Amino acid sequence: MACVYTLGADIGGTNLRLGIVSSEGETVSFERKASSVLHENAAEGLAEEINGHIAKSGYTERISAVAVGLPSLIDKSRSTVLSTPNLKGFDKLPLKSELEKILGIPVFIERDVNFLLQNDMEKLGLKSEKTVLGFYVGTGFGNSIFMGGKFYTGSNGAAGELGHIPILGSNMKCTCGNTGCIETVCSGKALEALAEEHFPHTNIKQVFKVHGNEPILKAFVYNLAVPIATEINILDPDVCIIGGGVIDMECFPKEILSDAVHFYTRKPYPEKSLRLLFTRHDQKSGVFGSGIFAQKQIMKRGKPE
Ligand SMILES: [Zn+2]
Repeated sequence: MACVYTLGADIGGTNLRLGIVSSEGETVSFERKASSVLHENAAEGLAEEINGHIAKSGYTERISAVAVGLPSLIDKSRSTVLSTPNLKGFDKLPLKSELEKILGIPVFIERDVNFLLQNDMEKLGLKSEKTVLGFYVGTGFGNSIFMGGKFYTGSNGAAGELGHIPILGSNMKCTCGNTGCIETVCSGKALEALAEEHFPHTNIKQVFKVHGNEPILKAFVYNLAVPIATEINILDPDVCIIGGGVIDMECFPKEILSDAVHFYTRKPYPEKSLRLLFTRHDQKSGVFGSGIFAQKQIMKRGKPE
């Protein structure tokens, strides 16, 4: 069978990353730009960047589909971007149809964390009949749920907002507008505030290396296990994948986090069969996950011709 090529786009608050992924599982082209290159008309701007990347890479007329990952709330039908707090021009945008109109090939849009989990499942060789949960601690607390052969989206498309489960008795304001969300204590933002208060003379990147034995940092790591164990207790998954910028920090105590997840998980099951895997992402992970997702979608449709 001839090799199929798809384009993956990963749009963040700061960077736009584009790449072409082959059905042999390779990222054959990649580029990173500032997200600010997307002008006011976000769909038109993104289509221009996509076409520009395809032309530059020498794959004109050879791309079967495009998948775009966004840090957004997306509607249930995965057609319209509803809300994107960190990106201008995408709110209430029917991105799928607008891009398809300009590009003339199938376009899929999805939450960026789902493409990170798609990347991890592909790299780890996890089969799609498994229930797999992704927990990604970056600036916020990202979560992806894969079950029944697909990403679980919920009734409105808003499933997996694990960072926004409430903490009993908390009055802390969350950036989502709600009060008491667990992300106010379980995120890179929370770690930054904690480090600024308690270790003002240490570079944040070194905080676990220099102060890892301090009780306040151990408590932070233990807190991260609360949302993770909560979802494990609800869904009893086959595999859990943990990653993100905070987990990647030098000397981050993964064994303490693992112990804490085991501590909070219900015994004897799901605790006894708990499978926790740590992952590390690079610049290309979101693009690769997007490209693989697009490959799987067109295969399901029986395409390409
Ligand atoms: Zn919140």
